[in-house]
Amino acid sequence: MQLDSKLPSGPIELAWDKTRFEMKLVNPANKRKHNLIVVGSGLAGASAAASLGELGYNVQCFCFQDSPRRAHSIAAQGGINAAKNYQNDGDSIYRLFYDTVKGGDFRAREANVYRLAQISVNIIDQCVAQGVPFAREYGGLLSNRSFGGAQVSRTFYARGQTGQQLLLGAYQALERQVHAGKVKMFPRTEMLDLVVIDGRARGIVARDLVTGKIQSYAADAVLLATGGYGNVFYLSTNAKGSNATAIWRAYKRGAAFGNPCFTQIHPTCIPVSGDYQSKLTLMSESLRNDGRIWVPKKAGDKRPPNQIPEAERDYYLERRYPSFGNLVPRDVASRNAKAVCDEGRGVGETGLGVYLDFGEAISRLGKHTIAERYGNLFEMYNRITGEDPYQVPMRIYPAIHYTMGGLWVDYNLMTTVPGLFALGEANFSDHGANRLGASALMQGLSDGYFVIPYTIGNYIASNKIEKLDTSHPAFGQVESEVQSRIKKLLEVKGQRTVASFHRDLGKIMWELCGMARNAAGLEEAIGKIICLRDEFQHGVKVTGSGEELNQQLENAGRVSDFLELGELMCRDALHRNESCGGHFREEYQTPDGEALRDDEHFSYVAAWEYAGPDKLPVLNKEPLEFNYVHPSQRSYK
Ligand SMILES: Cc1cc2nc3c(=O)[nH]c(=O)nc-3n(C[C@H](O)[C@H](O)[C@H](O)COP(=O)(O)OP(=O)(O)OC[C@H]3O[C@@H](n4cnc5c(N)ncnc54)[C@H](O)[C@@H]3O)c2cc1C
Repeated sequence: MQLDSKLPSGPIELAWDKTRFEMKLVNPANKRKHNLIVVGSGLAGASAAASLGELGYNVQCFCFQDSPRRAHSIAAQGGINAAKNYQNDGDSIYRLFYDTVKGGDFRAREANVYRLAQISVNIIDQCVAQGVPFAREYGGLLSNRSFGGAQVSRTFYARGQTGQQLLLGAYQALERQVHAGKVKMFPRTEMLDLVVIDGRARGIVARDLVTGKIQSYAADAVLLATGGYGNVFYLSTNAKGSNATAIWRAYKRGAAFGNPCFTQIHPTCIPVSGDYQSKLTLMSESLRNDGRIWVPKKAGDKRPPNQIPEAERDYYLERRYPSFGNLVPRDVASRNAKAVCDEGRGVGETGLGVYLDFGEAISRLGKHTIAERYGNLFEMYNRITGEDPYQVPMRIYPAIHYTMGGLWVDYNLMTTVPGLFALGEANFSDHGANRLGASALMQGLSDGYFVIPYTIGNYIASNKIEKLDTSHPAFGQVESEVQSRIKKLLEVKGQRTVASFHRDLGKIMWELCGMARNAAGLEEAIGKIICLRDEFQHGVKVTGSGEELNQQLENAGRVSDFLELGELMCRDALHRNESCGGHFREEYQTPDGEALRDDEHFSYVAAWEYAGPDKLPVLNKEPLEFNYVHPSQRSYK
């Protein structure tokens, strides 16, 4: 497989302008002759579908929920970054670029990240024009707060509901195009396979989730904006429905998978409370602006927090990282939380928790100000735990939150299958080995509103794309493969539920390929996953039929894909003999427990290629070059 990242040459500040100028354009009158498929209507998909419809293309947009408004993006709480420098506190496009490359532990492409930082300023204007109610200062200016890994305040927010408000903006833009007849929306329709004809992506096969009907859709290009795969860990902060099926099936049709082991653990989630649990809840990183993280100094100290005097508390992030304090990046905060819990200093019944304490902020700023900033998050915490965070510190623990890995894409967001593009969390993205907070919304909207409208035109104008429809035999062939996979799942008639397999997989992934990994553990995980997959194939119980609404069947397909993806993640983690960002290999750490990269051998994107059933995947490498931000040991001290 040839990986051509199509990185632009010349000074990085001019690269995107130059690329756009050199791109071929599609004449306005010709755009309406082209059909595009967008799978996903979260922030990345909705913004792309709306923008492409506005440009004049005919768009078919798919989602598995009953409405685009229910995409996982709606859950995003804390905010979206942009280098507006409204605070006049030293921010700039270059600083956002620098922070993101460094935050990603030097495993992202410089040119992509620079473009992202440039576009960040346009996103805010676009969203304000749509009426997104960002928080404002008393005088009317947009307000900002800080997120981890930055020493400036550049995060725009709408209380703790930023994703919801941004999604409503994108949804309105999308619905406008639906009304105009330029976008046709297919809710409750799940893409189950990709159709590749003469080496190009030409359509999808999808299942109507209400009737069970399997149907093909043809287009001149296919865009996947299907979100992340954090639910491979079973317990995560992701929406329960988030899954990897679309990108996994595309991988099996030839799209390389980039850095699958790069997953993000978020430090501030409500701790797991028992085996019955099926979902974890995020407490936004924005809380670290005012909340102080601590554990007792003494191991095994079980006193309630208000009985532990100041002198006996360890504000370990402030102590270890005086420059960034509680606002160190997520990977660093998570690892430190695990370390103090491993020392027996964790709090709560399970000992897997640390305090996030607002006592000092409330006495400094008053309860009213804290309620204005984080009111809905406090209420959510209170409802879930029964504890009032205005009175007692929150208890938090790291949890799976985001996947930096995803389909490999070039600078134009095209995968290794010509005509197949990936956007938002579904691609391997601009975040390297660790994403900074408030950067996912920025990337999804950058991809959808500002990058793909140019690059899709260039693809269409530069290639002769034959006209075809779903009568092409390739569609029938893929449809019958989809049908037979469904039939197989229904015919197993085993004894165990889909959820029980999923839970077991999640346990293997969290324990052996989670916050800390090592070679022996990863080998063990691969063996266990292969066994579990085999058990699934012979022991899963899926009731009902394929010709009706059948959520067990939907889940069975998704878990079956997770059982394959989990193995690839472990193989990727095993081959990367270094620690970087969220990928922490216990064998590779500095004397004080920080991630130890090996730039000489691993400064590349790992792009895995499917080699066929029962064959090991092939590793392709895209070398990374750093001409602006020179790789160094990340320091937040
Ligand atoms: C609790 C939480 C809080 C967060 N807070 C923030 C934050 O404050 N700031 C920030 O920057 N990031 C945040 N993130 C991350 C961010 O929300 C996500 O990365 C981002 O919203 C992903 O957007 P997306 O459009 O790529 O995918 P999604 O929003 O996940 O959308 C995926 C879409 O694809 C569709 N889809 C998927 N598979 C198929 C299929 N096979 N067939 C048909 N349709 C399919 C779905 O129906 C959906 O429409 C948060 C994440 C979580 C979990």
